[in-house]
Amino acid sequence: MSGGEFDLIAWIRQHSTPAGIVRVGIGDDCAVLAPEGPGELLVTTDMLLDGRHFRLAEHDPADIARKALLVNLSDLAAMAGIPQAAVVAVALPIDAPGGPQRLGRALHAALAQAASEYSVVLAGGDTNAWRGPLVLSVTLIGQATPPGPVLRAGARPGDVLFVTGSLGGSLLGRHLRPSPRVAEGVALRRELGVQLHAMIDISDGLAVDLGHILAESGGLGATLEAEAIPTHRDAVALGAEDGRSPLEHALHDGEDFELCLAVEAAAADRLADGLFADRSLALHRIGTVEAEPGLRLRHGDGRVEVIEPLGFDHFRPTPGVSP
Ligand SMILES: [Mg+2]
Repeated sequence: MSGGEFDLIAWIRQHSTPAGIVRVGIGDDCAVLAPEGPGELLVTTDMLLDGRHFRLAEHDPADIARKALLVNLSDLAAMAGIPQAAVVAVALPIDAPGGPQRLGRALHAALAQAASEYSVVLAGGDTNAWRGPLVLSVTLIGQATPPGPVLRAGARPGDVLFVTGSLGGSLLGRHLRPSPRVAEGVALRRELGVQLHAMIDISDGLAVDLGHILAESGGLGATLEAEAIPTHRDAVALGAEDGRSPLEHALHDGEDFELCLAVEAAAADRLADGLFADRSLALHRIGTVEAEPGLRLRHGDGRVEVIEPLGFDHFRPTPGVSP
């Protein structure tokens, strides 16, 4: 961005202070991190593209920037990580309304606000301007909660499946303003320890993301209880528009950013008894992991239906924009 890039970096630097594990932040060639304690480091990255994940012409830059950090926080939550630091790379469109400098500052202000809410220190990044669309990439670094990160690959037959919150219909607006379950992921790990076998965040839909746990855990299956799956009121509202049932939306819509977890059966009863009630953590027991591969849905009348995963596929050549 020639001189403008240095102006923007100088401005960002004035508005950033090294803290936490960040010993040297924005302004040198690298950031310097000094992690404390025994926990392993977790690193995750997500890139948002204008025209694919949002439309700059329609969406508030502040929402876009927040979401770029929050989706990373959701991935970190899925492994029970504690957020520490983030680095941000941005390609600003030269023809942005008000100019790339102004857009860059708006994005940074929103990122900084979201970062402070989740105790993330912005440690560095890269800014460019070009004759292309806005691209925003955030890399987040966190630290594992003892006894270690919760992987997808830990579910066992007999485990009980839970989800936080309620699901479906995020396209009505929640997809732009996620509430990553960071504190909940850490709390679950602290409470359950090694009895928390596997966890994932629901970004592509419950059916698809639970499928990842089952596949990574050696090709297991699961049966979900239809009446136990928490449907969000947005799933009901969207279903009234498109004729699909709230349950279908809860199973297949993406970007809920809730957690899905597999818990040892002996610990599941403790959770079901309201272990987390005092944390205002809505936790729903939705089904059981089984040795038989495949995902099944048991209805109230005892009928069992096989579920095909239909979630959002990032490589699907759809003409539309999701979200
Ligand atoms: Mg994820």
